[in-house]
Amino acid sequence: MCSKEKPSPRVPVARPQLPDCRSLIPYLQLIDENRIYSNFGPLQSQLAQRLQAQILRHDGHVLTCSSGTSALIAAISAVQTRWAVQGPLCLLPGHSFVATAAAAEFCGFRNVFVDVDPQTWSLDPVALQNHPKIDQAGLVLVVAPYGRAIDMRTWQAFQDTTGVPVVIDIAAGFETFANHKADLPETIPIMMSLHATKSFSSGEGGLVLTRDLEILAHATCSINHGFLGSRHAKIRGQNGKMSEYHAAVGLAELDGWQEKTARMQKVSDGYRRVWKSAGIPGKLWSAPNVSGCYILLEAVSKQQALDCLVALDRSGIDARFWYGQGLHKERAFRHGDAPQVLPITEDLCARIIGLPCFVDMGANDIARVIEAIRTSSP
Ligand SMILES: *Cc1c(COP(=O)(O)O)cnc(C)c1O
Repeated sequence: MCSKEKPSPRVPVARPQLPDCRSLIPYLQLIDENRIYSNFGPLQSQLAQRLQAQILRHDGHVLTCSSGTSALIAAISAVQTRWAVQGPLCLLPGHSFVATAAAAEFCGFRNVFVDVDPQTWSLDPVALQNHPKIDQAGLVLVVAPYGRAIDMRTWQAFQDTTGVPVVIDIAAGFETFANHKADLPETIPIMMSLHATKSFSSGEGGLVLTRDLEILAHATCSINHGFLGSRHAKIRGQNGKMSEYHAAVGLAELDGWQEKTARMQKVSDGYRRVWKSAGIPGKLWSAPNVSGCYILLEAVSKQQALDCLVALDRSGIDARFWYGQGLHKERAFRHGDAPQVLPITEDLCARIIGLPCFVDMGANDIARVIEAIRTSSP
């Protein structure tokens, strides 16, 4: 009665692989010897120093945090203190992950969602200068979606001319720095996430990168209960420090980073090859144009995207709209306001589908994904 053939398992959208226990042991032994488990311990320092040398080439400072979200809150709190921020509003793109909007609200801002540029999928610095609410803005939160490269010099110029502080969320942008040798802006802090689903990971973790020593000090204060040098809370802080255990994972991840990058690139190349010969309308985004943890299908229409999703699901393949329908549509950030329309954000959110992507994804699975999309497309 039972079929001998096992049904092929569902292909997940992500299947992270972090350093195995054997590569962690030397670092865990150090923790046993040190008996320091958090509070800027020696493994954390080592990770910060190695990242500073490797991804910043000593041009700037690295603050490790317990998550990307805590890093974002630290960066925002730091610029609030650094520039004595007045304006109550935060201008930010509708096209991002929910953590971006939540971090600004945790820091006391009222969010104003702005539509993005259809080419960069990100805020347009020229258009934003003329935003009707720019005079009430105390913060601009720029997002580099999916780790796409972003022109940080233009944002530094924007901050210098408008006087509105900027923080950049490049949550998935590890490779933008590690592989493309991007320069940090003079006084704008950058945030990255080291979550397991991002390409470089410590399990949970985040980074603030900055060249500005004052911002570094305030951000450090923010993740350590507002303490800096004494047990007086200088600002309203949080506990956002990276533990030594997470630093151990980060160090082992850094040891194997070159190999992991090569595996991610192989998946990206595999997708590109099959995609090219399939002749499907739309565009496939993969590393190095987006982070290696994403393969994105930019469908030509909402209908094509919907048809794809149905076909993928029927073939046992998971897919995801990583940024939902746009931040302005999330109930948590609506506060009972009238529904807002951001046409470009909504269009991108409905057309960009996250396809399965993980380091050990084989050629068969890649072929299965593209075949499902091909049969559903005109
Ligand atoms: C992943 C991500 C975050 C949040 O990072 P966590 O480490 O999960 O807290 C914030 N913004 C964007 C754009 C992200 O992709």
